[in-house]
Amino acid sequence: MPELPEVETIRRELEPLLAGRTIVRAEIGDPRLTRPRAPAELAGGLEGERISMLGRRGKYLLVGFESTRTLVVHLRMTGSLRHRQAGGDLLPHERARLELDDGSELVYRDVRRFGTWCLLDAVELEGYLAARVGPEPLAPDFSAELLRGRLAGRRTALKAALLDQRTLAGLGNIYVDEALWAARLHPAAVTGSLTRQAVVRLHGAIREVLELGIARQGATLRDYALPDGEAGSMQNEFRVYGRESKPCERCGTAISKTRIAGRGTWFCPRCQRR
Ligand SMILES: [Zn+2]
Repeated sequence: MPELPEVETIRRELEPLLAGRTIVRAEIGDPRLTRPRAPAELAGGLEGERISMLGRRGKYLLVGFESTRTLVVHLRMTGSLRHRQAGGDLLPHERARLELDDGSELVYRDVRRFGTWCLLDAVELEGYLAARVGPEPLAPDFSAELLRGRLAGRRTALKAALLDQRTLAGLGNIYVDEALWAARLHPAAVTGSLTRQAVVRLHGAIREVLELGIARQGATLRDYALPDGEAGSMQNEFRVYGRESKPCERCGTAISKTRIAGRGTWFCPRCQRR
């Protein structure tokens, strides 16, 4: 599933290609993508819009238009975007296609069909996002003290709290496991019981793994690819994720796999004690 670094990579790649372009034709073939609105209605709303910028909030990609409206895209499990010359063959699992005024097109594909497209007016955007995502972990004002406030008093497993997008935006299964290993914290630790020092370590670790993920252009395991079809390389940097039974790079102990918050969870039983 694309997480913050994957969506940020897509944003950075697409922005110079899309900014200033006008959508001349929009085709949306999947009612699940746009519900509760009808696909044809949303497609009609996109035609003629001129793209001004690409933004991101957590795992949401924001396509901003000069009209001040925004197309809010969430890729969920298996959504992906491909930018290419217009008029290409239908791609497997293609759900939508936007033709641009420079002869290129943006194609949206989604195997599992959990992704969402939502066209919002400027006045609706802030409320839409505020209801769904907490602070941005890479924003300059995201301090350890702010993180501490988000975690304080919570009785849930630390991993569950970090997967909750309202705690902070953008983390998913991969980057949570990697950040917890880097911070030497057990994924099932009681969230509200962390010491100030532990939160400082966690804060640094979250930023570190997200920045590394962006530098490596995301992790390509199955569906994620850059808009030009290339793969990211963050999967080569994993310290724990998917590394069951392999030696911990810090202490040599075999990495364990368990299930926390309903998700496969990898950790070092020696470095990350409860
Ligand atoms: Zn270890």
